Amino acid sequence: MENFDVAVIGSGPGGYVAAIRCAQLGFKTVIIEKYNTLGGTCLNVGCIPSKALLDSSEHYFNAVNKFGEHGIKVKDIKADMEQMIKRKAQVVKQTCDGISFLMKKNKITVMTGHATFVDAKQLDVVDASGKSNRIGATNFIIATGSKPSSLPGIEIDKKRIITSTEALELKTIPNHLVVIGGGVIGLELGSVYARLGAKVTVIEYMNAIIPTMDRALGKELQKVLSKEGFTFLLGHKVQSVKSSAKQVEVVAESSNGEKVNITGDYCLVSVGRKPYTENLGLDKAGVAVDERGRIVTDEKLQTNVSGIYAIGDVIKGAMLAHKAEEEGVFVAEQLAGQQPHINYRLIPGVVYTWPEVASVGYTEEELKESGTKYKTGNFPFKASGRARASMDTDGFVKVLADSDTDEILGVHIIGPRAADMIAEAVVAMEYRASAEDIARICHAHPTFTESFKEACLAATANRAIHI
Ligand code: FAD
Ligand code: NAD
Repeated sequence: MENFDVAVIGSGPGGYVAAIRCAQLGFKTVIIEKYNTLGGTCLNVGCIPSKALLDSSEHYFNAVNKFGEHGIKVKDIKADMEQMIKRKAQVVKQTCDGISFLMKKNKITVMTGHATFVDAKQLDVVDASGKSNRIGATNFIIATGSKPSSLPGIEIDKKRIITSTEALELKTIPNHLVVIGGGVIGLELGSVYARLGAKVTVIEYMNAIIPTMDRALGKELQKVLSKEGFTFLLGHKVQSVKSSAKQVEVVAESSNGEKVNITGDYCLVSVGRKPYTENLGLDKAGVAVDERGRIVTDEKLQTNVSGIYAIGDVIKGAMLAHKAEEEGVFVAEQLAGQQPHINYRLIPGVVYTWPEVASVGYTEEELKESGTKYKTGNFPFKASGRARASMDTDGFVKVLADSDTDEILGVHIIGPRAADMIAEAVVAMEYRASAEDIARICHAHPTFTESFKEACLAATANRAIHI
């Protein structure tokens, strides 16, 4: 039996990053992945393929709806779904191959197979042919990720009633896609198909879309998406979903008891994800999980069993690739005796619709609830010259700052390139900048980032220049 310093279970962004950092720090490291390709949910069926399709569908949408205005005439524009899926598969393959290269470069042993704890110090790794290999390790990092959740009484048949995984592989553009859940997946994948011409109906249980983000963002996004083929049924509870060969029938009930019947050709169930620990042998190792099936960890991300750590989607917190990555580095550096730190309040959240939505820090609702005294600075993209030049005038930047100290407490952006713009807010908040600090920093003109400066000026005694 081969022994390692660290055994990492799962090769998603949590696992592969943890493995690389462990190897950099001199640990003899093995990574175990049950599938043939490395990269986990994020690279294979999550972040990367969804962004590839979002980009392709955005080009198509712009060609149909915006090129004319720019003075570009194109005839006979057609969406070739087969080619879009083929390109997406190539992007996924290149990205996953990149992880295999990084494993080799860092001299990390890669084992393909399903890992199960035999006890707190050993794992069995069973490959597709049923062959079992036992390994031992001083430390284990569980990074087994998550799987899509469903709703009671709804059977995901993967043909008509689908999850994000199948929605990334559709052979034809749906006529009518019914989406359960107005969260990140529903709106991103709904956008892909709405841009390609599908009618998209989103049924959301809460009274807002992206309800965990600052409420102003969901309101604005709903307004924009409603112009692009989306219909929203907010405050509706899905009661049943039935599928036949070519159709789905969804029954939902509004908060005042009214029933709605919706017929479509696909139903995407995107109501969250659940931690994945199936057949991992946690009981054999004595590792505890909470009432939602998440592995319980302490402030060091160690489980209740010494030497067994857990990171990423399988533990509490935001289910985000960059959160998993930070946790992977955190555990590796701790094992090396370093003192790493993660500021969970400053993990940005992004929705890759167009306009993009990005957020960091406290929402206005959270500040109100905690009784914090705050001031707001808003800047609409319609007042930005850069946004007018690219015809991206929907949305705004909203800055929340402490009334007394002017420290930035939250930044909420909906608009062009918000996903990239949020990085400046994260840096500012990591260094505890005030709104006036940002307002006094020179921003290149014309850029979208000037809008962040303007929102900070607006928060600083209403000094915005361009509104
Ligand atoms: P995962 O990426 O889920 O990886 C876990 C790996 O462990 C898997 O490969 C699995 O096969 C393997 N595994 C499980 N059990 C075992 C076992 N017993 N033995 C061996 N291997 C095992 N996040 C973002 O930040 N940005 C985005 O844009 C984004 N887009 C997304 C789009 C979609 C459609 C989806 C579904 C998710 C998206 N996410 C996004 C979320 C992101 O994918 C996850 O937060 C991230 O992948 C979690 O990383 P992880 O390492 O914890 O687990
Ligand atoms: P989510 O938590 O973002 O959204 C689920 C939505 O479904 C919520 O708005 C919720 O109120 C609603 N819902 C729950 N039960 C319902 C019901 N019975 N009827 C109607 N609506 C109901 O989950 P998701 O969109 O499935 O995404 C899963 C995870 O993947 C998220 O945690 C997210 O962080 C991650 N993800 C991230 C990105 C990104 O960072 N851009 C993209 C995709 C996925």
